[in-house]
Amino acid sequence: MPPGGRMGGPLGGQYLTEEEKANQPKVTPELLKRVFSYLKPYTKQLILVLFCIIVSSFLSLLPSILTGRILDEGLLNKDLRALVFYISLSLAVTLGASLIGVAQTYINTWIAQHITFDMRNQMYKHLQNMSQRFFTSNNQGDIITRMTSDIDGVKAVITNTFSSILSNSITLIIAMIAMFQKNWILALVGIVIVPLFTLPTRSAGKKRWKLTNESQQVNDEVNGILNETLSVSGQLLVKLFGKEKYEYDKYEKANRRMIGLNIKESMAGRWFIVILTTFTSVGPMLIYLVGGILMMKYDSSLTIGDITVLVALLGRMYMPVNSLLNMQVEWIRSMALFKRIFDYFDIPVEIKNADDAVIPEKVKGDVVFEHVEFSYDPSKKILKDINFTLNAGKSIAIVGPSGSGKSTIVNLIPRLYDVDSGSVTFDGVDVRKLDLRFLRDKVGVVSQETYLFNGTVRENLLYAKPDATEDDMIDALKKANIWDFIEKQEKGLDTEVGNRGLKLSGGEKQRISIARIILKDPTIFIFDEATSALDSISEKKIQDAIDPIIKSKTSILIAHRLSTILAADEILVVKDGMIAERGTHKELLGKEGVYRELYETQFCKAIMEDDGVSELEQYIWGTQPADEPAAED
Ligand code: ADP
Repeated sequence: MPPGGRMGGPLGGQYLTEEEKANQPKVTPELLKRVFSYLKPYTKQLILVLFCIIVSSFLSLLPSILTGRILDEGLLNKDLRALVFYISLSLAVTLGASLIGVAQTYINTWIAQHITFDMRNQMYKHLQNMSQRFFTSNNQGDIITRMTSDIDGVKAVITNTFSSILSNSITLIIAMIAMFQKNWILALVGIVIVPLFTLPTRSAGKKRWKLTNESQQVNDEVNGILNETLSVSGQLLVKLFGKEKYEYDKYEKANRRMIGLNIKESMAGRWFIVILTTFTSVGPMLIYLVGGILMMKYDSSLTIGDITVLVALLGRMYMPVNSLLNMQVEWIRSMALFKRIFDYFDIPVEIKNADDAVIPEKVKGDVVFEHVEFSYDPSKKILKDINFTLNAGKSIAIVGPSGSGKSTIVNLIPRLYDVDSGSVTFDGVDVRKLDLRFLRDKVGVVSQETYLFNGTVRENLLYAKPDATEDDMIDALKKANIWDFIEKQEKGLDTEVGNRGLKLSGGEKQRISIARIILKDPTIFIFDEATSALDSISEKKIQDAIDPIIKSKTSILIAHRLSTILAADEILVVKDGMIAERGTHKELLGKEGVYRELYETQFCKAIMEDDGVSELEQYIWGTQPADEPAAED
């Protein structure tokens, strides 16, 4: 065997990292059963692959076996016809094995692609059923990794790991059977030699792997020093503190360590090849020796061809044995991969449609909170005994300090979360008993963080109402006070909003999302007003868009601006997860409580900062605002 020629893949990655070792999954029959359940729909194709593997393994070993015939019957017998025949047969067989290999790769890839296709769809569906809690408590990157790289990993497991285990085991079994058939003593000698060859190469590989890791670390360290000290501010610090020598010494030391490690690493590679060459030649030599002794002294039936076949077969065993030994690592990794994916599948669906979910025939829009308690995590109660009634056609403004639980209250209405105790009812029916799609259809939310999908204005509007006509859309945009802007765009409704609406200003995005909700025309409107300050013109436009809704529709607003608050029929003041006060603006101002404090610190300040003092006065004294010319955002 040529040194390094059949040693499987590169050494890197053949050993488990400490982290992988610590997280090794327990391979239970259940886990295996679950893994294989994904293969089950493709049983027919799998049988075909297995068949291909068996045939191609056998065919690829056949030339080694035929070398015996070439020697004994062709060369030693001086029979040219036999020689040509066996050589041709060998070539044909090799070609056959390769052709079957092609088919095998195709079927294998086909199966792997189909399995990952199934898995991806299943995972996407599952993730869509996950609650808001899941998305807020999991890192988005992790979720996407699970969907992409982990599931891609499965593809690699099926195309590489599984088929490699199968084909190597089969090759090994066939090679052993063939060896024992030729001569059991020589077969035994060969089998004893295999571990002698594989074990030292493994330990050399392990050492090299360790060195590679170590030099990687030093490399990171060196890069760290460079990044830190060669940056503008880093250099400034070095200069001002006169630390040039100190930093140089640090750099030189790390650099020196790296040289040492790199030399060691290259040498480990050399030793590795020395060991490899020695052991690969020891095997055949031993068989020649024992075979020669047997042939000369004991067993006259053993031919030169037989011995050559045994040597050739032995050569064919190294690679499968080595791969199989490495497979242990691959296997653990594969199982860990499946376990990670299954763990995701096993996260229970928190918010789901009740079995006996109802779809009411008539919809009014009364919402009642009764003794509602809620917490995101059990250790910290967020909402305590929340009670209020929102009658159809009325509006409620929720105000309170940041973090007091205002958004949490409104999140309970479309069931982004479920209450811990108490109840939220919609037209007298507990929201948990309502059909989820019906409920979410009836509740429209304009959230603080407006989210527009990457696409055109039209596409974003159609998301809310797929059958909306052009006129419907224009009407909604007009109501949302954004049609003027859209109309002026070259592409009108087909203007691209950019990724997450980034091509638009905050105010424009808000108003498009208001138009979207107007198109959806829900029974209950929820506005979670943006805390971040928009310029006063944008604010006014938004205000003008939502005012008529607040006045004519059932609505809840989380308000930060006095003007919005004043438009509502009732004001709830939330503090520390409780309703501290409730009433109208006038009643609350008279109370000298939380509302008054908020009014003086927050609302007044916000208005004073604008040039909207007159607006405040208008609301407080009830005068009509003067007509302002519409300005652009
Ligand atoms: P507000 O809308 O009044 O600013 P929120 O309802 O957003 O307040 O938040 C109330 C409390 O709940 C805060 O302490 C906040 O940190 C916490 N909170 C909000 N969302 C989550 C979440 N998804 N997971 C855990 N805690 C949360």
